[in-house]
Parts: sequence; structure tokens; C-alpha cells
Amino acid sequence: MKCIILIAAPAAGKGTISKYIEDKYNYKHISTGDLLRNEIKKNTEIGKKIKSIISSGSLVGDDVIKEVFEKEFKKSKSNIILDGIPRTLAQAKMLDELDKEYDNIEIDKVIHIDIDKEIAIDRIENRLICENCGSVFSKKVIKDSKCTKCGDNLVSREDDNKETFLDRYNTFLKETKPLLKYYGDKVITIYNNSTLEDIYKNVDELLEGDE
Ligand SMILES: [Zn+2]
Repeated sequence: MKCIILIAAPAAGKGTISKYIEDKYNYKHISTGDLLRNEIKKNTEIGKKIKSIISSGSLVGDDVIKEVFEKEFKKSKSNIILDGIPRTLAQAKMLDELDKEYDNIEIDKVIHIDIDKEIAIDRIENRLICENCGSVFSKKVIKDSKCTKCGDNLVSREDDNKETFLDRYNTFLKETKPLLKYYGDKVITIYNNSTLEDIYKNVDELLEGDE
């Protein structure tokens, strides 16, 4: 199976872009964040463990990520797009180990989504999210705090502030960005400083022939 890895700075639009690739090019989106939340929700053994790690304020370690990811990965039949993994060099090596073990992953492309720091901060500070359908809007465009898709309330997320962003951004620079060097000429960088249409066009050029 073909595998696209997404490496994106915080607020660079990873969610939107992976949804686009999933829908248009028929890739299965695997997000480690979603996988962890699902295990917690289903209250599985590993879910209970994850919950206690998170509530103690610690970060979920690579061993837990591996367990949850491998379970999902084994079920996958179609091409996959990875979101949130690998986040560190150790996880990239883990992925290589799984590749050796199962011998069916072809890391086809590594898409690096980059964004100017100031633009990202501006987006974060103006971001509104629909409580019902999860659609994302900007305070700059929305006048009455209602979702234009479903009419429900729009709210700012608690962690959408400059301090949290800078924390995540610095972690990204330190832990995740070195992966670009690791993947070398597989990496294609797309800048998300302009409109969504432009980004989609870039993605289309990249994935042409994969439909
Ligand atoms: Zn909505």
C-alpha cells in the first residue's frame, strides 16, 4: 500500500489537507490523535492506560503510539495517509521497522506543509470551530458566531492561543522538523500562506495520476 506522510507545523492546515486527499484520492486517513481518543472512548485496556497518562499531564510515549498504530495499520487495505505519526525520529524508525515486518508499506511521499509563523498565529487567534460539525471559520469572516453549514454555535478552542501555539511550534522545530532531513528527497514542501484553492491545486499537481 502507498503511504503519504504529512509533516506540518501547527496550524498549517493538516486536517483540511488530509481530508481533501482522503476524499479525492481515496486514501485512508490515520490520525494518531483520533486513534488515541477512540481507545479512550471505547474504554479498552490501552484506552484506560492512555487516559491515566494524559490526566497525569504526561505525554503518550512511543510504545503506546506503536501499539495503537499497529492495530489500525494491520486492518488497512487501502492506501494510507499518516497524520501525527511519525512525530519524532524514534517514531520514524519504528515505522521503518513495521515496514520491514509487514513488507507492504511504500512510503511514497512526505508532504511538508509549512506556514509563516506570524500567519499561523493570526489564524489561531481568529479561529472559530463549530460545536456541532467541527467546521472551521475565521472571526474575520464570520459576523454572528453561527456555523454557515449547520447553523450551530461557533466557539474558540481553549488551546487556540499564542502561548500554546508557540509551545507546539517550538516542539515541532525541535522534534519533528528534523524528519525532513531523514526522509530526504521524498519530501515535498507546500506553503499554506495563501488560499485553500491554491493549496488544493498544489496537492493535485503532486498526486496527479494517483486517482
Ligand atoms: Zn456546523
